Amino acid sequence: MTKPKQIDSIDIKLKATHFEPFINKNAVKYTENAITKGAKSWTKPYNKPQLVGHDKTSSPIGRIIKYEIVKNQKSTYDEPANYVRLTARITDKDSIEKVLDGRFNTVSVGSKSSRVVCSECSQVITEDGLCDHKKGSYNEKGDMIHWIIDQIEYTEDSFVNEPADEFAGIEEVQIGSKWIPYQDFLDNRTTLLKEITMEDSVTTQTDAKLSTEARNKLSESAFCGPGRSFPAHDKAHVTAGLRLLNRSNFSDATKAKIKACLYRKGKRYGIAPSADELQENPDLLIVGVDDAWTEEQRVELETFFKDNPDADLPDETDTTETTDTTKTDSGVVIPNLKDMKKDELLVLATKLQKDLEDAKTAHTTEVTTKDATIADLTKKLEDSVIVGQQKEEEINKFLDEHAVLSKKLRDSLISNIVDLKMTDNINEAERTSLVEKYSKRSVESLSDTLQDLRTQVSSNTQTNSDVKVPNTTLQTDDNNSAAKEQNINDEKLDDKFKLFDRDRNSTEE
Ligand SMILES: [Zn+2]
Repeated sequence: MTKPKQIDSIDIKLKATHFEPFINKNAVKYTENAITKGAKSWTKPYNKPQLVGHDKTSSPIGRIIKYEIVKNQKSTYDEPANYVRLTARITDKDSIEKVLDGRFNTVSVGSKSSRVVCSECSQVITEDGLCDHKKGSYNEKGDMIHWIIDQIEYTEDSFVNEPADEFAGIEEVQIGSKWIPYQDFLDNRTTLLKEITMEDSVTTQTDAKLSTEARNKLSESAFCGPGRSFPAHDKAHVTAGLRLLNRSNFSDATKAKIKACLYRKGKRYGIAPSADELQENPDLLIVGVDDAWTEEQRVELETFFKDNPDADLPDETDTTETTDTTKTDSGVVIPNLKDMKKDELLVLATKLQKDLEDAKTAHTTEVTTKDATIADLTKKLEDSVIVGQQKEEEINKFLDEHAVLSKKLRDSLISNIVDLKMTDNINEAERTSLVEKYSKRSVESLSDTLQDLRTQVSSNTQTNSDVKVPNTTLQTDDNNSAAKEQNINDEKLDDKFKLFDRDRNSTEE
């Protein structure tokens, strides 16, 4: 709740002085002419003072800020219909209190006049001096002899205890923005005084009032409480919300849920729970984050805000804190420029200029570093491409070499096989045909065939140890008679041909 404030000033309307046909207790009547011409002297050339008891040596308790000439005002009792209405702004604390408690009420004007006329003989007393008629006395007809004031210049207005004009006094008092008849005010003083302190504090809190209006414009997500309560769209409002929670009597669950939300939203404004708080309750920031408001909570908060509509808004200290300075993204605190003196602005401008230069330098350095990194990576990429190409070339070279070697191996295998098979003739055509035939077989197959052939030859060689060089024998002794001559060799040659037959058969399958 807003704390009742000391009232700095109060405006009051006064029925300051009534004019003709009214004659006051001092037997003085002001003409309408005098009033019409003289009223402006209330505020010109300066606002006349509001005094107490016509004491011109004392400090004014306020000033007259406005005048009006009121005519034919109807009243419920015999109050004169024409008067000068003044608005006085009372600024003296003691006098405000006296106005509000009814001690100050009746007033009297102080004035100078250069034209006063006797009602009985019309003598201009201000020019010709006093006549024989005594004002306030009655003539033979029973009428009161009075002075007619036909020119007037006002000098001050005073609260007095015994006014000559018995109807001169406080007419209305301003409570907040409303004007209330003074008597009504006095009759309902206690209630209205409570209002005046509340309303006054509202008028002084322009920012909070604006926030009230802005509340409806904020998006739903800007609030931490139900029904657009606890706005948290800036630091001041988060602070205000947390403060209200701390002194409120809301249920623990309600408090915890709102508090968690305020802290979550307040994080970006630098509002966070202390490490101790978090240690005590690690869930502090997530309490009720997904829970809907219960009906009890809604009613609880609604009821509270009905009586304290703006309790969740910042007060003067909060708004001062946020409006006096502006925190930039870089964390530089810039005071309100309009409040700064020229030299302060110069210092700030210089600092900002330097910050800008620093930022530019940092930026340039960063860009340079980035460029260098990119160049470096590009070069590495190019290098790796080159290396890749080189590797590929090597691989291709190896593949070529491998192919060449494979061919050589195959040729060699074929050559060997054909050599082994063609032990019995040197027919070139048959040789070519064999080579052609074996060329169609794989290296593995050729290798196997050669292995088999060698095994055969080798076993023959081992069993017939006396045949030292079979190939030579075979090549030279190419006839049956020679073979028959050597019995031992016959058997061996048979085996040999068997071998070749078998091979031929196998290869021709
Ligand atoms: Zn006279």
